[in-house]
This record gives sequence, C-alpha cells and structure tokens, in this order.
Amino acid sequence: MQEMAVGERVVPPVPPATPEDAAGLAAALHDLEALSRFDVDGIGERAQQAEDAARALGAPDLERRARLVLADLARRRGDVAEAGRIARQVQRWATDADSRHLLARSHFLLAAVLQELGDLSLALEHAVQSVHLLGDEDPPVQRIDHLARLADCQGLQGDEGAGERYAEVLGLAERLGDVDRQLLILNNWAYVETIAGRYDGALRLSAQLQALAERHGVPLHVGRLDTIARALLGLGRLAEAEDALAPGTESGALDVSPDGDAGADFLLTLAEVRRRRGHVAGAQEALDECVRRCEQHGLTAIRVRARREQAELHAAGGDYRAAFEEHQLYSQAALDLQSAQRDARARALQAMYEATEARRQSRRYRELSLRDPLTGLYNRRFVDDQLPQLLDRASATAGTVSVALVDLDHFKRINDAWSHDVGDQVLRAVAARLEVAASGWTVPGGFAARMGGEEFLLVLVGGDERRAVRQLDDLRRAVTAHPWAELADGLAVTLSAGVATTGGSAAASLADLLGRADEHLYEAKARGRDRVVGDGG
Ligand code: GH3
Ligand code: MG
Ligand code: MG
Repeated sequence: MQEMAVGERVVPPVPPATPEDAAGLAAALHDLEALSRFDVDGIGERAQQAEDAARALGAPDLERRARLVLADLARRRGDVAEAGRIARQVQRWATDADSRHLLARSHFLLAAVLQELGDLSLALEHAVQSVHLLGDEDPPVQRIDHLARLADCQGLQGDEGAGERYAEVLGLAERLGDVDRQLLILNNWAYVETIAGRYDGALRLSAQLQALAERHGVPLHVGRLDTIARALLGLGRLAEAEDALAPGTESGALDVSPDGDAGADFLLTLAEVRRRRGHVAGAQEALDECVRRCEQHGLTAIRVRARREQAELHAAGGDYRAAFEEHQLYSQAALDLQSAQRDARARALQAMYEATEARRQSRRYRELSLRDPLTGLYNRRFVDDQLPQLLDRASATAGTVSVALVDLDHFKRINDAWSHDVGDQVLRAVAARLEVAASGWTVPGGFAARMGGEEFLLVLVGGDERRAVRQLDDLRRAVTAHPWAELADGLAVTLSAGVATTGGSAAASLADLLGRADEHLYEAKARGRDRVVGDGG
C-alpha cells in the first residue's frame, strides 16, 4: 500500500493576479451559485477549485463565495450544523467588509439551514434579508432563487402570501425560459399546498408540473412524483395516485433521487397508496424496501412513519394484535425521535453560534492579557506591542510623542508604615489620575500604563516637550493634593517623573526615548523627589 503524507498538501504555484482573472472567477462563481440549486455532478470540485483560485488571487470576497457553495453542499449531505457555522462566519466577514452580495448569499444559506432546523420564523427573517440585499447587478436567476426560498419559508409557516410570491417568482422563471427553476418552484409550491391540506391547489400545480416536464422531456425524479401522488392521495383519488408513482417504480428510478432520502419517502407513499387500494402484499413489498433503505441510510424520521404504516398494514391484513404492537412501537419511536430532534437542533444551533462566542471570548482574553489586573491600566506587554507602532506612525507624519516615566516616592515606606493593602489602594488611585491625565490631553492616541510595581508610563501624542512637562507637573500636584488622609491617617503620596519627547521628523528609537525618560526620572529622584524633569531640565 502506498504511504500517504499526513497533513501535507501540494500547494500549486501562485499565478500572477490580473483583473481578468478576478473577473473570470467572479463569473464562474455566479455560475456555481446558480447551479448549486440543483444536483450537478462535480460542483463540489469546481467550488473547491474556485476557493483555491480566489485564495491564490488574494480575493477574500470570492474565496468566501466559493466557501458558501461548499457549505450548501454540506447542508444537502446532511451536515446542517456545519453549513450554518460557515454561513455565520462568512456573514460576519461580509458585514465587516461591507460586501453586499456575500451578505445576501449568507442570508440565503442561513434561511435554508434554519428551515431544516425547524426554526421557521428565523428562517423567514434570513430569507427576507437575502432578497432585500440583492442588487440590480446580481443575475436574475439569483433573484428567482432568493424569492423562491422566501416563498418556501412563508409557505411552510402557513403564510397566505406565499401563493402570490410563488406566482411572481414562477413568472420570472418563465420569462427567463428557465425550465429547471419552474419545475423546482412548482414542486415546492405544490408541496406547501399539500402540507396546508389544500389538495385541490396542490393538484392543479402538480398537473402544471407534469405538463411542463413532459413538454420539455424532463423526467420527474421520485421526489416530484411523490408530491404529485400526495395531492391525489389527499383527494382520495387512489388509482391516479398509484399511476403518478408508476415511473418511480421502474428499475433504477429510485436510485437517482437527489433528495438525500434514497427514495424512502416515495416508497412510503407507494405503500400507503397500495394499502388503501387493497393491495396488501404490494404495499408490504414497498414498505419492506422503504425500511431497508431507512436502516441503510439512517433515515430515522421516515423509519418512524414507516412503523405507523406497518401498523395500518397489519390491521388491513386483519392481524390486529400485530397492528397494536407495531403501533405501540411507533408511539415510542415517535416520542424518542421528537426528543432526539430537539437535541440535534439544539446542538446544531449551538455549533452555529459557538464560533461567534469563541471569537468574542478570545478578543476579551486578549484585551485582558494586555491589562494590569490591579489598576486596570495597560500593562508592559501592551506598551511593548503598541509603543513602537505609535512612534513609527508619529515619525511618518512628523508628529511628536512624549513619554513620561512616573515613579512613586518612597513607596516602600507606605507599604511598611501602613499596609500592602493601603499600598494597593494608593496604586489604584494614582492609576485613575494617570488615566485622567492621558485622556485630558488634547490629541487622542496616547495612553497610561503600569510598567510594574509603583512605576507607570504616560504616553502623550503631539504637543511639545514643555507642554508635556506641564501636563506631568499638573498630575504631580493633583497626586500630592489628593485627600490621602481619607484612605489612611497621616498618609501622604508624592511622585517623581522623567519626561522625554521625540524631535518631530527625526525617528527616535524606543530604547533611546525610554532611556532618556529614565535618566530624567533618576535626576528627579536625586534632586529630592516630588518633581518632574524633562529634556530641558
Ligand atoms: P523611590 O522613591 O526611590 O522610588 O523609593 P521606593 O520605595 O518607592 O522604591 P523601591 O523600588 O525601593 O520600592 C518599591 C516598592 O513597591 C517595593 C515593593 O514592595 C512595592 N510594590 C511593588 N509592587 C507592589 C504592589 O503591587 N502593591 C504594593 N502594595 N506594593 C508594591
Ligand atoms: Mg518608587
Ligand atoms: Mg520604583
């Protein structure tokens, strides 16, 4: 057996990006988006290629459009939670990037996801947004798709306006001569009508569906035959219902079902029709095949309905005991399914929202890790991270930056004479005044930080050295004048500070600037403390 490298991936050479590449890729994505409504072979591969190409081009917008196509495929395969997670991620990105088309597409996918999760009202909200966000430059098929999904969401919610919406969107598809979309719309409209118990309407639409398919020589797959048969079944027209299902019983027809239920739904309807027509053996045959497929593909919901049909079949055959027992199994399975579906839905919704929460949390932790827990001021890590950038920006715009190292005088004595706790409260009170000094400065962008112990840093953007020294001296006087005695009897606090300012256009290195400030601080201490020393003395 050939060894396979794990975690390795062949990275194709990055082609030079040209506007033509991007335009071609955007057009290809419109195609993929349009095709993704239907089951087309190889669409996953093409979407994957488009995603790779967009990444190589450095086109994050196109990359995410491809990702949404892939997510929609995941949804059709049954991975609804994954599809929802990706759709939400893309949606956040699209919101930040102000990308209207991508926003519309993510709402479109979220509507389908939430519809499948059974949250119809939220699905409807997303569907409304997906239509609202479309622009004139979007292809007309996309408008049809988004409007059709809106109609589905309305219809499944029992909204009377759905019919009007379906009629409108069907008209759009007709005008475009888009037969595939007309079939899709007619099928969904008819299905919604059967759900609502309006079998006459469903039948009228089914007839239209059949006629259209015939006219264009398009075979109806079993899912659509099922829709037609259910309308007839609802009206008690059993023989016609069985006729409608007939093409699906031809060999191989079941295996081209694109609905992901492997034709099990169709077989269940077939069993019901046959039973109601008195063909118990034929019904049992269809039901057995239905159950086999349910078990093979893990189709729990249809398996439960198959139990109810089995109970009916036993009764039709006169075996009331077996019917009773099967009905009991059905009741229990239906209850189990309900709670399993509730759990699955909760898990899927959780997965969709976890991504947001994780991001929010990590931002919070990052922010926390840049703060000093005692005073709430920024910490040394923040200074190391931000100050070089701030200096770079200032020198690029010939702006000035002043830094002041602030150190409390004889702080050790405060700890010793009162307590460590009083010392902590002094640090907090001084920190609050530093914050005021930073935010009271005329130019924004500066900050106050705690460098460690009783040593602080104040960064002031703009202004000259004299003004910076004056600001520090105001701070010094405010600290001296603070009502410290309220905190502890006889307590007095003073500080010393060393100030250094960049020379405008000359880019001062961070080390140089802080070194000068430190020298000045040392000088302030040496000259008796409780004072501010700058470059000018
Ligand atoms: P100077 O005027 O020369 O700066 O004298 P000083 O006593 O302020 O300087 P020194 O560096 O000798 O002492 C600083 C003291 O600050 C020592 C340490 O116990 C105290 N300290 C450091 N961090 C904290 C803290 O988080 N809380 C409290 N209460 N004390 C702290
Ligand atoms: Mg000190
Ligand atoms: Mg110190």
